[in-house]
Amino acid sequence: MDNATDRYDVIIVGGGQAGLALGYFLFRLNFEYTILEAAAEPAAAWRQRWDSLRLFTPARYSGLPGQPFPGEPDRYPTRDEVADYLTDYARRFELPVQLDSRVRSLSQVGSGYEVVARDRTYRADAVVVATGPFQQPVVPPIAAQLDPEVRQLHSSDYRRPEDITSGPVVVVGGGNSGFQIAEELAATHEVHLSVGSRQKPFPQRILGRDLFWYLDATGLIRKSAESRIGRRLAGKDTLIGSRPRALRRRGVRMHPRAVDANDTEVAFSDGTKLRVGTVVWATGFSGDYSWIEAPVIDDRGRPIHQRGVTRSPGLYFLGQTWQHTRGSALLGWVKDDAEYLAGVISESTRAKAR
Ligand SMILES: Cc1cc2nc3c(=O)[nH]c(=O)nc-3n(C[C@H](O)[C@H](O)[C@H](O)COP(=O)(O)OP(=O)(O)OC[C@H]3O[C@@H](n4cnc5c(N)ncnc54)[C@H](O)[C@@H]3O)c2cc1C
Repeated sequence: MDNATDRYDVIIVGGGQAGLALGYFLFRLNFEYTILEAAAEPAAAWRQRWDSLRLFTPARYSGLPGQPFPGEPDRYPTRDEVADYLTDYARRFELPVQLDSRVRSLSQVGSGYEVVARDRTYRADAVVVATGPFQQPVVPPIAAQLDPEVRQLHSSDYRRPEDITSGPVVVVGGGNSGFQIAEELAATHEVHLSVGSRQKPFPQRILGRDLFWYLDATGLIRKSAESRIGRRLAGKDTLIGSRPRALRRRGVRMHPRAVDANDTEVAFSDGTKLRVGTVVWATGFSGDYSWIEAPVIDDRGRPIHQRGVTRSPGLYFLGQTWQHTRGSALLGWVKDDAEYLAGVISESTRAKAR
């Protein structure tokens, strides 16, 4: 084991799209920096998503700074195309991503930070946490009440219909993942979808144009979380391109919230029960910041920050949902927050040097 201490101006934790976009700007500002990535391969988050996944953002709105997403701009790229794009992006701009380097702890030391990764210790003046908005799968407590003969998996472990061998299948969760997985499974399985809280459905295309064209053209995608419209939209998830009616037409049976489970049955809030063979929990994710030893996490485990800047000087977050705008956690807009943070880091480093 090598215990050497490596020094940098900036360490980015996480080599997904947020970490790479920031790396692009830090390189241009001549910072000495590195990107520590837990996974053994680039674009890990995308590679782990289901096989048939297609972006809900067209290629035109899925590029990082300096390199548009390749191909026809109005198409919806596949999961593998995104993984390839991010891999090429890091290579093209020679971004210093260190794979297999999960950060285990981050603590303040003097006016900077100490970062302990798998086999090395690092020091830096600034650290940016870009570990992604979707980290720990969340499953409701009722899952523990189901008999072991019921197969249970979280949406993050779902890959393809052929892996689901026992039915009927209930998909729990009315977000984009729940709707898309239920739709895919409906071609070959008896599928039920349980929707606890309805998300506002938006069509993918309106009058021949993609939804994101309108969000971009009207400026809505860049409205800040503090603006009047931002306050109304933030925290509300939207369902893009899926509708309950269309799902019903494909044979999916709709249920309200799953409130209880017992043996091989799931019970819903309308009093009905269903015997199931498989449950797919499309019930979301939480963050995991237990490794950060600095007063920047609230008592619900969420980062405390203002547009990514924390009260701990030199410690930042990037890629959070609604970090600043609706686009903050999206491929095509994370560059806005990345550029902003690169500017903040540059300013504070210069101020320190004065
Ligand atoms: C199913 C699904 C579909 C989506 N579709 C779209 C879409 O169509 N268009 C769009 O723009 N967005 C989409 N998104 C949203 C968003 O673009 C992705 O979630 C994206 O992966 C977020 O990028 P990120 O860099 O912030 O985080 P991630 O991609 O999650 O990257 C974070 C990286 O940090 C690493 N990491 C975590 N912890 C540590 C640690 N302690 N030390 C070191 N490394 C660590 C992880 O291994 C990971 O590689 C989708 C999200 C999901 C879940």
